[in-house]
Amino acid sequence: MATVLFHSTNESAPPANLREALLIGQAPDGGLYLPRAFPRFTLDEIAGFAQRPYHEIAVAVLARFTEGVLGADALAELCRDAYDFDVPLEPVRGFPRVHILRLDRGPTASFKDFAARWMARLMGRFVRETGTPLTILTATSGDTGSAVASAFHGVEGIRGIVLFPSREVSERQRKQMTTLRGNIRAIAVDGKFDDCQALVKRAFTDPALRFIPLSSANSINIGRLLPQSVYYFYAASRLARPGEPIIFAVPSGNFGDMMGAVIAGRMGLPIRRLVAPVNGNDAFPRFLATGRYEKVEPSRACLSNAMNVGHPSNLARLVAVYGGRMDETGALRRGPDLTALRRDLFSSSVSDEQTRATIRQAWTDHQLLLEPHGAVGWRGFLDYVEGEPLNDTPAAVLETAHPAKFPEEIEKILGFTPEVPAPLAALDKRSEACDRMTVDYEAFRECLIEKHAGR
Ligand SMILES: *Cc1c(COP(=O)(O)O)cnc(C)c1O
Repeated sequence: MATVLFHSTNESAPPANLREALLIGQAPDGGLYLPRAFPRFTLDEIAGFAQRPYHEIAVAVLARFTEGVLGADALAELCRDAYDFDVPLEPVRGFPRVHILRLDRGPTASFKDFAARWMARLMGRFVRETGTPLTILTATSGDTGSAVASAFHGVEGIRGIVLFPSREVSERQRKQMTTLRGNIRAIAVDGKFDDCQALVKRAFTDPALRFIPLSSANSINIGRLLPQSVYYFYAASRLARPGEPIIFAVPSGNFGDMMGAVIAGRMGLPIRRLVAPVNGNDAFPRFLATGRYEKVEPSRACLSNAMNVGHPSNLARLVAVYGGRMDETGALRRGPDLTALRRDLFSSSVSDEQTRATIRQAWTDHQLLLEPHGAVGWRGFLDYVEGEPLNDTPAAVLETAHPAKFPEEIEKILGFTPEVPAPLAALDKRSEACDRMTVDYEAFRECLIEKHAGR
C-alpha cells in the first residue's frame, strides 16, 4: 500500500498527506481535501467484514488512508478506543429487507461521535509527536460542538474551545458542552450561530493570534469524513449478500455523512442508489433536477436543525468526484457529470409538516421511533421507493440522532417522551461551567490570549 495523497477541490494547492490535511483543515487555495484515487476493496474482502466487530472494520478501511502516517498497532488501539459503543441495525416491520442504522449510541447521541472521536484521537497523536500544543476552535449550533467537545475532552496537548449561541441550543446540548471542564471551555455567546461562526473565522485570520496554533474540527476537515465511510461497509456486510448492491438513505445538511457513502462506493462497495433527502434547505435536490446550483440564503430554520444548511460545503467534494469543480463560494467552475450523478443519487426536500407526519406514521405503522433528522431520511427513502420499487433490494436508512435529544417534539407528536440513554441522563445531574460573552471580537481575542497563557 502506498501513502494516499489528498488533493484540493480547487486544484491549485499542493497535495498533502493525511497528517498535513488533518492539521491544516482547509486547503491553502480555499478548497477541500479529497483523495484523487481511492484505495479499493474486493467483494470478497467486503464480504469478510460480516463477521468482524465495528472497530475492526474501521481499522481495515481507515488503514488504507493512514498508511505512511500512523502505525498499524496505533490505528488498532485508536479505533478500539473510539468505537466502544453499539451500532444497531433495526429491522423495519412491513419492509422485509430494510433496516434502520442507528448511529446514536455514542456519548453525545449523534452520528457526529463516529468522526469526532476518531479525529480527536488522531489529532492528539500528531500533536504530541510535534510537541506543540494545539487549540481547536469550534462554533456550533448544537450537535457538532457537543460531539467535538466530548471527543477532545482529556486529549493531551489539545485545548478545545466551543462557542455556541446562548439562546439557540437545547438544555441537553448546552450541558454536553458546559459540564466537561478540564481542557474544554464552553463560551455562551449572546448572539446567533452566525455570530459565533464569524468570531471563529476572524480569529483564524487574525495576525495578532498567529502565535497561538489554532485548528478547527468542522466538517470541511477530511478527518471528519473518512471515518464516516466505515458504517456503510459495516451495514452492507451485514445486510447484503456478497456483491449485492444496497440502497442507503442519508438525511443530509452539509453532506458530510452522504460523502462517506460516496467514498465507500469509490472504494468498491456496491451501492444501487444513494438517497440524500434534505429539509426545507433544498439547494441540492434543485441542483440535481436542473443542473443549476443556487444556495438557499439565508438558510431556513427547520425542525431538523442540524441540517439547516443553505450552502452545503461538501458539495464541492461531490462535484469533484463527478469530474466538476465548485469553488468555496458555491460557483460551479466546471459542471459535473450530471447523468452519472442522477443515476447514482436521489434527493427530495421534506417539509416540517411532512417530518412531523412521518414521525407519527413511522411509529403507528412500523413501531419505528424516529427523531426529526431520521424522519427526513425515512420520508426521503419512501419518496424514492414510490418511483422505483425495491424488488427485494436491501436498504439501510440512517438515524443520525437519538430521539431523546428532542423530547418536547416527540412528546407533542407521539404523546410520550423517549427513554433517555445513560450518557444523556448523567448530564442532568452535573454542574455547569461556562464563560459568557457578547458579540465582541476584541473581548474574544483577549479571552483566547488569556486561555493560551493558561489563566
Ligand atoms: C449534522 C447532522 C446531520 C447532517 O449531517 P451532514 O453530514 O451535515 O449532512 C444530520 N443529523 C444530525 C442529527 C446531525 O447532527
